[in-house]
Amino acid sequence: MTQKNLPEGLHLDTLAVRTAVDKTQYGENSEALFLTSSFTQPDCATAARRFAGEEDGYIYSRFTNPTVASMEQRLAALEGTEACIATASGMGAILLLCMGLLKAGDHVVCSRSVFGSTIKLIASEFGKFGVESTFVSQTDLGEWKSAIRPSTKLLFAETPTNPLTEVCDIRALADIAHAAGAVLAVDNCFCTPALQKPAALGADVIVHSGTKYLDGQGRVIAGALCAPQAMVKDKFIPVMRSAGITLSPFNAWVVLKGLETLGIRMEAQSARALALAQWLEAHPKVARVYYPGLASHPQHALAMQQQRGLGGAVVSFDVKGANPDQLRANAWRVIDATQLMSVTANLGDVKTIITHPASTSHGRLTEDQRQAAGITQGLIRVAVGLEHLGDLQADLIRGLELI
Ligand SMILES: *Cc1c(COP(=O)(O)O)cnc(C)c1O
Repeated sequence: MTQKNLPEGLHLDTLAVRTAVDKTQYGENSEALFLTSSFTQPDCATAARRFAGEEDGYIYSRFTNPTVASMEQRLAALEGTEACIATASGMGAILLLCMGLLKAGDHVVCSRSVFGSTIKLIASEFGKFGVESTFVSQTDLGEWKSAIRPSTKLLFAETPTNPLTEVCDIRALADIAHAAGAVLAVDNCFCTPALQKPAALGADVIVHSGTKYLDGQGRVIAGALCAPQAMVKDKFIPVMRSAGITLSPFNAWVVLKGLETLGIRMEAQSARALALAQWLEAHPKVARVYYPGLASHPQHALAMQQQRGLGGAVVSFDVKGANPDQLRANAWRVIDATQLMSVTANLGDVKTIITHPASTSHGRLTEDQRQAAGITQGLIRVAVGLEHLGDLQADLIRGLELI
C-alpha cells in the first residue's frame, strides 16, 4: 500500500480530495471500496497482537474497515481534529457521544433549539438511565451559565439551527464549558467544516450527520464524531466495539466521495441561498425571512465571523396571512404549487427541498409549544440545492402568486 506523503499546510478543498488511507498494490486513483465484513490474519501470533490492540491491523468491520477509516481521516482533516469516528447515522453519533461521556447522575446543558431527535434522545432516553438535562436558550449565554451544576459534564449546541437558523457563539460556549470542566459538543451539520470549524473555536467534539451535506446528494444515512485522539480511543472506540452503531463501508465510501466536492457545493449552495433570501425579503407576500447571511438576521455579525462570511444553504420564511388557518393554507399553497422542489424531510442535497415544519418536523408539538419555538403555520423551509436561481424563484412564484 503506497501513498505520496501529503505536504503540510494544505487547504480544505485539497484535503477533501487527497486525504485517505493508502492505496492498495493496484494504485487505484479513486479510493477502493472494501466491502468485507472481516479480514484474514496471517498467523495466530499476529491475530493475537491485533486483538490485544498491540499492533495495527484490520480484524472485523464492526471495529475498523479501510474505507471507513479513509472517510474518518478525511473528515478529521477537514474539521482540524486529531481523529474521527464514523457512525451509522447522525443520531448514532449523538448516541455514541452520550454513551461515551455520560453516566447516571451526570448533567447535560443543551440548547432548546437543537434537532428534535437530539432533545428526545438526551431528555427521554438518557433520562431513563439517570442522566439529567437542562434545555436553555440558543442565544442567551446567561441561561447557559446559570444552568451549570457541579455534575455538568456536557454542553451541546447546534448552529445555525433548523428551521429558524438561530446562531450561537461557539467560542463563548467553549469558555463556559471549560470553566465548568465540561466538554462542548457542536452539531456542525448545517455549516460543515467548509464554512465553520468548531474545533478552532474551542469545541471539543464535532457532531455530524453525514446524511446531509457531507454526502451532499441524498443517498445514504451516515454520521460521525470528530474529537481529540485520546477521547476517541478512551471514550468512543470501546462503546463502538460493543454497541455496533458502525457505518457500513459502502455508505462510508459514498460519503468519502461526497466530501471531495464539499467546499464548492457549500459555496455554490450558500450563494444561491443568499440570493434567494434577498429576493424573498423583498417579496410582497413574504412577512419575514430567516437567513444568517441577511443583515436583518439577529446574529448576522456573529454568523459571518463564525461561518467564513457565508450563510449556509437553508432559508426559512413566513408567508403573509391573517390567522393560523390562513397562514397554513398559504404555506401549503406555495409548497404544493412547486414543480421542481422536492417535498421531503431531508436537507443538504443538491436537489432543493421545501418543507412545512409546523405540519411535519414540528407536527407533534402542541400549538403553544410550536409558538414558543417560533414555528408559525406560515413558515416554509427551503434547503437550497444547485438548481439555477431563476428556476428556483419561478418555482416559488407559482404559489406566491396564488396567495
Ligand atoms: C439530520 C440531523 C441529525 C440526525 O442525523 P441522521 O443522519 O438523520 O441520524 C442531527 N442533527 C442535525 C442538525 C440534523 O439535521
